[in-house]
Amino acid sequence: MSSEIIRKVKERSADNYGLHRQYINPQFVRVLEVIGFNRNYVGAEGAYLIDKNGKEVLDFLAGFGVYNIGRNHPYVAEVLKEVMEAKTASLVQMDVSPMCGMLAEKLASLAPGDLEAVFFTNSGTEGVEGALKFARQATGKHKLVHCDHAFHGLTLGSLSVNGNREFRERNEPLLPDCISVPFNDLEALENTLKGGDVGAFILETVQGKGVFIPDEAYLKGVRELCDRYGTLLIADEVQCGLGRTGKMFAVNHWDVKPDILVISKALSGGYIPVGAIITTRDIHSKVFDSMERCFAHSNTFGQNDLAMAAGLATLEIIEKENLVENAERIGNRIIDGLRELANRYEMLTEVRGIGLMTGMQFGEPKSMGLKASWKLLHKMNEDLFCQMITMPLLDRHDILTQVAGHGLDTVKILPPLTITEEDADKFLEAMDDVLKSAHSLTGSAWKTVKDLGVRTAKTA
Ligand code: PMP
Repeated sequence: MSSEIIRKVKERSADNYGLHRQYINPQFVRVLEVIGFNRNYVGAEGAYLIDKNGKEVLDFLAGFGVYNIGRNHPYVAEVLKEVMEAKTASLVQMDVSPMCGMLAEKLASLAPGDLEAVFFTNSGTEGVEGALKFARQATGKHKLVHCDHAFHGLTLGSLSVNGNREFRERNEPLLPDCISVPFNDLEALENTLKGGDVGAFILETVQGKGVFIPDEAYLKGVRELCDRYGTLLIADEVQCGLGRTGKMFAVNHWDVKPDILVISKALSGGYIPVGAIITTRDIHSKVFDSMERCFAHSNTFGQNDLAMAAGLATLEIIEKENLVENAERIGNRIIDGLRELANRYEMLTEVRGIGLMTGMQFGEPKSMGLKASWKLLHKMNEDLFCQMITMPLLDRHDILTQVAGHGLDTVKILPPLTITEEDADKFLEAMDDVLKSAHSLTGSAWKTVKDLGVRTAKTA
């Protein structure tokens, strides 16, 4: 029996924006239209999306870092089909399946040191919520410390340790006793921890909003301070884990073992929502410390067989296709290429990158004409400048990228870890062209983005 759903979806492909506008999120559809990102993608393979006109778009966004192994990986698809055909006994709840045990065993073998007790989740934010609860229960201390600009998800607990004003506002009061410290500042961290009453310090090993990378000595220093003051260290690697930075986990770059590691995004190859909290047996046993408390923290879908199978298959692909090494090699090629462009284009002031997680920082130019335009644009809207990079990258070069956060003037790339040297070079050539236009006051780039400012102001 073949389903009608795919046929109907094809039939209604052109209704996508109308449906979304009516039933889901009209403001988002307006944004897509205004910035020209309404390409209506109808297919995807590997590092490429295919739009309704059959044009291939190089996906340097990867679903916010979900598609580390590329889109629609055939091996993971095959494994999922096999699991469905096998009619496994998933989600019995009052029994346990071998598949979640196998994925937990694999994650324990990959995670640093003695991190071996796994709790499966459905998303990144759910992993963060669980990690915060584990830390509070294991230490008996409820205070939490997080970093400025941190992003750990948008449910209320995760939001309480989120360092971005635009997400927090209208939701306060959030959890009490959550303290923010600057990233890369050990002194500020020590000042918050030295009372000995902080349960956890949570940080993204590499910060996603803006792509901020720890200084060489930071993480070791963080580890020492947490040990000294009895605080658990939670590393949120929802985005930077699973090969993204050129190591399986970003903490491996600095040889630091967190007490709790949170992963999600790329774990299922993008097919099924999944995530995991990986911690020590000691911490886990403090939460689940009796038979009555065997469900002290639980969820309904976390251990579902499809997610577990996708996780096993994805990790196999990451290893077999040497994607961690590829992320490092191609990532360095991109970072070097961008730094060469930064020497030539004054507004590209810094390139912060590690593996295939790179932020391009833009800043006020020195030349008179450009400086005036920069100031004017920022007066209109703090977030407009980056559109002068991301819009032509998509429009003229068919490359999808993203703005890295509000008011930061940073464009970010998170390509699949499968990209080739040719893909990297295509991106660098496109950046050269886009930067050239942005540095010319006579071309159309500034006008386009100022018009955009006017249109967004009018439709706000
Ligand atoms: N932590 C980090 C570092 C993230 O980047 C994200 C998502 N961008 C989250 C947590 C939240 O994940 P989710 O959207 O799956 O809840």
